[in-house]
Amino acid sequence: LEEQLRKSSTLNVIGELAAGIAHEIRNPMTALKGFIQLLENESKSDKHKMYFSVIKTELNRIEMIINEFLLLAKPKDVQYIKCDVTKIMDETLELLQAQAVLFSVQIEKKYQKSQLEIYCDPNQMKKVFINIVKNGIEVLENGGQIQVELTETEDSCHIMIQDNGNGISKELVARLGEPFFTTKEKGTGLGLMVCKRIIEDHKGKMEIESEEGVGTAFHIYIPKHNGSNNS
Ligand code: ADP
Ligand code: MG
Repeated sequence: LEEQLRKSSTLNVIGELAAGIAHEIRNPMTALKGFIQLLENESKSDKHKMYFSVIKTELNRIEMIINEFLLLAKPKDVQYIKCDVTKIMDETLELLQAQAVLFSVQIEKKYQKSQLEIYCDPNQMKKVFINIVKNGIEVLENGGQIQVELTETEDSCHIMIQDNGNGISKELVARLGEPFFTTKEKGTGLGLMVCKRIIEDHKGKMEIESEEGVGTAFHIYIPKHNGSNNS
């Protein structure tokens, strides 16, 4: 437990620090992008055009990392309210529908009830679902299935997101959620870290089951009621 507490507070410190720095970098980045665009507009040389394209690709990459870092900060207007998790999930899947089609991924939903209430910040919860479903789509580059199941236990809601991708070895499962742990060429390794933080904030938990060559299942448990105060 001590180890867990230590890890979780380190995670928060890293998160706040990273988000703070990201915020500071954003303004100079915007200026840089603007001036580079001006320079490019004035340039007539093909060689320069090639340089500009490299510069812009790299700037976009920095921007992507900054955006993920910003997600690590606790937003100021976090609001824990009673929400219907089926609605949050439907909105998530709608957002990712185009990407799923592009990768030939079929997403199947199985909701125990048409309405399942949890106590959460809906925007934060959506971020968690987006990250995990997106990872699933990315692992299924050549097509496959994602199963999304929502069920209810006595005091919590169980959200399961399962894919039939390549799976992850035992050693790597332990590293999921570590900052910058990624196996993707264009990954940031920050998505699951953000998920972990948000789920912790909700006093929930996440479990990962994976078998190589079979697939991976993410289980998230979110309490239906707020444990600390009854608002
Ligand atoms: P990123 O997606 O930028 O790599 P994440 O924190 O979202 O960062 O994920 C970290 C790593 O966890 C991924 O690079 C991948 O190796 C692994 N991973 C996450 N989800 C899955 C999944 N559904 N199947 C297999 N590997 C996964
Ligand atoms: Mg990811």
